[in-house]
Amino acid sequence: MSARTAREPPEPALTPAPGVVAEPPPRPDKAPFDINEVLGRIREEVRHFADAAMFALAARGHDSLFEQLVACILSIRTMDEVSLPVSLALLGRASTPEAMARLTPEEIDEVIRPVTFHEPKSRQLHAIAVRTRDEFGGKLPCDAQVLQSFKGVGPKCAHLALGIACGHEAISVDIHVHRVTNRWGYVRARTPEATLEALEAQLPRAYWVEINRLLVPFGKHVCTGSRPKCSTCPVLRYCRQVGVTESR
Ligand code: SF4
Repeated sequence: MSARTAREPPEPALTPAPGVVAEPPPRPDKAPFDINEVLGRIREEVRHFADAAMFALAARGHDSLFEQLVACILSIRTMDEVSLPVSLALLGRASTPEAMARLTPEEIDEVIRPVTFHEPKSRQLHAIAVRTRDEFGGKLPCDAQVLQSFKGVGPKCAHLALGIACGHEAISVDIHVHRVTNRWGYVRARTPEATLEALEAQLPRAYWVEINRLLVPFGKHVCTGSRPKCSTCPVLRYCRQVGVTESR
């Protein structure tokens, strides 16, 4: 029997913290979520797909922190199919801060014209190159705060560049990582920022860099924004399909 009396005010309704959404209903048809098993299956699945642009660039030798940061800025709001060749063209011309600082923003803009927001990006890239040359002796420090002090650089780019170039354990949450981990029911967050916090609290550190590498191609080809390919998805038995109303 409850110890509460009729005169006591009712308990406040449990509301989720800002940025966090309510627990989805249980799915008895699903196996308990096993992150090791799920990521293992996805690793196998994405083997046939192209690497996300920054990983592809690193594999081609463009693996310095400066080059990775440049590539990430170019990839913002731009598909990999466009940003990757543009990154290769720009880094082919100027792969160091000194070389990029010698170009004018207009010359950079000429090369990066196919990417979204190429004009402001050309000014941002030039400013990063000049400041790296003048303030850091030509070498960017592996420091998230320094990277995020540059205009146009947020946690997504800073974390991914630091993970690839400096070996930092850092999670980069883009729209694919946000969407897929929420559909699984692994996290329940409204924004990529809240997803980052939730993943930092529970994702094993061994996966902090790899999760972006796996979920970007997985989100592009399998767990797509609309009508995900659930019927052939390798993790269907674990995924709670939160918010999925139509699938293939
Ligand atoms: S089962 Fe569907 S919603 Fe879940 S990860 Fe696979 S494709 Fe995405």
